[in-house]
Amino acid sequence: MPKTVGVAVSNATFHFDKLYTYAVMPDQQNAVRLGSMVLVPFGRGSRARMGVVLACDEEPESSKLKFLFDVAPASACLTPELLRLVHFLKERTFCTYYEAVKAVIPYGAQYKPAVAADGVTPVLQKQLTRHTENSYKLAGTLPAKPKPTAKQLAAVALLGGGERTQTELEEKGISRAVLDNLCAKGVLECSKVNKSIDLYSSIPLKNEPIRLTAEQQAAYEALLPHLEDAAPHGALLYGVTGSGKTLVFLKLIERCLQLGRRALVLVPEISLTPQMILRLKSRFGKRVAVQHSALNHTERLLQWQMIQDGGADIVVGTRSAIFSPLENIGLVIIDEEQEHTYRSESAPRYSAHEVARQRAAENGALLLLASATPSTESYFAAQHGRTQLVRLTQRYGGNPLPHVEIVDMRAELASGNPREISLALEDAIRRNLDAGKQTILLLNRRGYQTIAQCEDCREVLKCQKCSVPMVYHKSAHKLLCHYCGSQMDPPPQKCPTCGGKLQYRGFGTQKAEEELAKLFPEARILRMDQDSTAAKDAHEKLLAKFARHEYDIMVGTQMVAKGLDFEDVTLVGVLGIDSLLFAQGFRAYETVFSLVTQVVGRSGRAKDPGFAIIQTTDPNNPVLNLAAAQDYDAFFEQEIAYRKLGLYPPFCGLCVVGFAGPKEIEVARAAARFAALLGQQAAKQPDLPLRVLGPTPGNIEKINEAYRYKLTVKCRNDRRFRDLMRETLGLYEQEKLPGKATVVVDLHSDGD
Ligand code: ADP
Ligand code: ZN
Repeated sequence: MPKTVGVAVSNATFHFDKLYTYAVMPDQQNAVRLGSMVLVPFGRGSRARMGVVLACDEEPESSKLKFLFDVAPASACLTPELLRLVHFLKERTFCTYYEAVKAVIPYGAQYKPAVAADGVTPVLQKQLTRHTENSYKLAGTLPAKPKPTAKQLAAVALLGGGERTQTELEEKGISRAVLDNLCAKGVLECSKVNKSIDLYSSIPLKNEPIRLTAEQQAAYEALLPHLEDAAPHGALLYGVTGSGKTLVFLKLIERCLQLGRRALVLVPEISLTPQMILRLKSRFGKRVAVQHSALNHTERLLQWQMIQDGGADIVVGTRSAIFSPLENIGLVIIDEEQEHTYRSESAPRYSAHEVARQRAAENGALLLLASATPSTESYFAAQHGRTQLVRLTQRYGGNPLPHVEIVDMRAELASGNPREISLALEDAIRRNLDAGKQTILLLNRRGYQTIAQCEDCREVLKCQKCSVPMVYHKSAHKLLCHYCGSQMDPPPQKCPTCGGKLQYRGFGTQKAEEELAKLFPEARILRMDQDSTAAKDAHEKLLAKFARHEYDIMVGTQMVAKGLDFEDVTLVGVLGIDSLLFAQGFRAYETVFSLVTQVVGRSGRAKDPGFAIIQTTDPNNPVLNLAAAQDYDAFFEQEIAYRKLGLYPPFCGLCVVGFAGPKEIEVARAAARFAALLGQQAAKQPDLPLRVLGPTPGNIEKINEAYRYKLTVKCRNDRRFRDLMRETLGLYEQEKLPGKATVVVDLHSDGD
């Protein structure tokens, strides 16, 4: 039993993130183990801090050591595998131990410091404690007087069929007050039960066997040996849109469960792939747990506990679901693997791919990446035999890929059509409406008219805290900053710089909806964007209505582009994509190619052939033309050449060191100082491949009143480089710079 422990504490800065030794009181020794959550006295004044036990020692405590304040129960302890992931994240992503701990345990299962009943001793308290709810059963008969109310009668009738929870009763319209009243009368008896954890329970079960097409079967059989041999293996399922990748997943999962093992399925964003949960739930029922950020803390916790208790065979969720405490994993699937949402943008800055590889290695699992447009890095790895490549080249049902046309919007304007919807698209929508078919339109900008620009000085109205334009939202009649949430209400009419008249121009989803309503007054139009889907479940409900053909046209942001499978959709229009073509970052082309291919792929998935129109002011753009042809292989050839020439992943790793602070000059100085320190350290290892670019101002120079600078380092993502970076961070932290900027390090592997 441990007498002393090494603890990593919360809120440590990089340099101070190490293990601190504490003594364990005899009555705590039973409870403490590796991975225990603890509360410790720390620093001057011995203030209580959260911590995690990362080392245990049988040595008798020295008299100088402080004692632990409190230890969380064993159920809150990190499993050995999660504990190894904490070390993995710390080593890979330059986070602190505690940041890693917070990433692998959901908020609800975490602990916080509180004050004990004596009002003095700090103790641990669970973030969430409500996992039980009331359950009612009949305990007596309803007296005839006073005359029972309708609700009382209904409650008694329902409970005649057996015990029910408060949630179930409330769903039937029986309020807590009615139940309390009946308990007081002795008619009902109330007890506490564990809260129900079966989310999505209304999805009906479907058990008919999966019949794969010949091509799907071949893909399945190519992967099967690697599932069955229980050795770590990586594969890429590259299948055109509508080829039935999901069916191959389902079949693999089914086999995985037969083998007595478990499966983890990642999707990029729950709103982009609502149908995955549906398909898994309808086939595998209650043994499917869900982990995604649209769940509230309680739901998320309950699902997590179900996984921890061994009650789930399948976990489906977004990025952080990769940390599910699922044991004996035989299969990990990353669907739409090219999506940027698989990279975390706050500490720890991991990619789900690298964590998945680690877990597949530990569990001897098959890691399956899947996409119609794989990331350049993943396809490169597959081409070079580092991972297995499996293809699906045909759409299910044999439909050809949609026919795609590109419309030049400059010519459109020149020929006298001032609208944002070209004549060709208008005509196609009309024909589609007449044929009783559905249309999906993509416009990657929410709001009404995008920006406000001065007619005189041409200045664009920007957010006062960020260096980005404000966006007009018609329904709320105000300007919004999409970065910090700042508002201008009411919207100004005059330019703040010169007093000239502001002109509101551009085209967002709200404006599109309006224009469509004018052109097609008879059509039922659905707008899908962050604003229209803000309410809980709004997203699923709207999509379900669209699926029932209660709408003819769906216009929206990227949430209409991916993963959706509606048989009546035979026309897709891309209204505006040009801004993305000129976006920063080496993945910009890949993103556009993938987005256009995905959205075009929504068209003509069932019996009838599909058609698509892409509107652009740059009709000769090679990326758009390749996307229109849905020629991934040609796109890949072009992209990989560009990556090689510019030295980008997969030809090197990319480490971006970001600096932010309220005074621009100080941020610039901090970045320069960091660059100098890095240079000094690197000079000691001249054989280490390294190229440092910058410092330069960030792509967006200011966000929420913080100025941003960055340093781009092209490197090889290996232990030597990471050690070098860590040393530099340590040195930088010890520098006494005035008003020092905060630093974040984001390392993109060469492999993903
Ligand atoms: P992808 O994810 O590759 O774009 P999906 O898995 O969504 O494609 O499949 C496209 C459509 O074809 C879905 O409606 C799916 O149910 C259907 N489908 C694909 N393969 C089969 C099959 N073997 N049997 C029945 N339906 C299939
Ligand atoms: Zn702002």
